[in-house]
Amino acid sequence: MTPGPLGIEDGVPKIAPQTGVLEDDRTFHSPQDGELAADPLLSSSLKLTLLRSDSPLERPGNYPLLTFLWATLFRCDNGGAKLPPHSISDMDRIIRGIMKYRQTGRKTMVQQFEQVRDNPEPKAVFFTCMDSRMIPTRFTETNVGDMFIVRNAGNVIPHSQHFVNEMTTTEPAALELGCIVNDIKHIIVCGHSDCKAMNLLHALRDEEFSSVENRRRSPLRAWLCTHAHSSLTKYQQLETSGFGTPMLFQAETPMRKFVAYIDPENRFSVTDKLSQVNCLQQLQNIASYGFLKRRLETHSLHIHALWFDIYTGDIFYFSRQQKQFVEINEETSKTLLKEIKRYYS
Ligand SMILES: [Zn+2]
Repeated sequence: MTPGPLGIEDGVPKIAPQTGVLEDDRTFHSPQDGELAADPLLSSSLKLTLLRSDSPLERPGNYPLLTFLWATLFRCDNGGAKLPPHSISDMDRIIRGIMKYRQTGRKTMVQQFEQVRDNPEPKAVFFTCMDSRMIPTRFTETNVGDMFIVRNAGNVIPHSQHFVNEMTTTEPAALELGCIVNDIKHIIVCGHSDCKAMNLLHALRDEEFSSVENRRRSPLRAWLCTHAHSSLTKYQQLETSGFGTPMLFQAETPMRKFVAYIDPENRFSVTDKLSQVNCLQQLQNIASYGFLKRRLETHSLHIHALWFDIYTGDIFYFSRQQKQFVEINEETSKTLLKEIKRYYS
């Protein structure tokens, strides 16, 4: 693709990965050529907002949505304007990173690839959110060959009821590749605090916000409404009954249920509570697939839930014994390992 007048590749607008959905539905629409474009009625006020920001030349580069707005709005009538320096350097940062990798990590990595090819020992299928702050190999200190990682908006695994007539999504295919083809014994679902997808799911309680019309315009809303609705329903039940009340979730089999207290110390926000509910709800969704049934029934496949607190860097394991997410630290790790060894190995 050739760069456009402002350095953006033609037809590939930058949309904030952190927010996913544009704040105001009225502002953007999808024109014929597939490129998101500004509504002329609203572009003037947005331009003013951008120009009034404290440091307009710097701020857009820090916020991809602003970068996109900047480029789209000013391209209309100011073809000579330049993109803020930060956004130009986005790809530069990636290319320079690759060059550094070539000089430092590549050789070792290729050796590890060869070892994995000859002795594959993957330990888990790991589902987590696509949020840029979630880097599971770093916070689990795992390496080449250790985990099959699947990331999406909100660490959601669609229920098997949506796998109809060959129509499927990535997640069940990944479960089959990991647990059946590669015989992996553990599935981990890892949610996190300040999850933009969960914030949006929480907002989807509003009927207008989640209307059919809005879902047709926003793949993210459609994804969450279709596949995370069960989490939202469960969360709303908890909200009605009071956050201190126990919840019941299904795990590996319909007979294997477990009780959960969500954030009993009331440390986290409502959307973080929803994120924890969503994380546990995925266990049931995973277990809904027939091709996993025998392995789950015979205890040769296990499902775990983790939760990452973005603010502190702490990681929690859902302990079915303790009926809550327990921080994994120097004091708790032994007890948690004991539980895992006893029930899930
Ligand atoms: Zn997230």
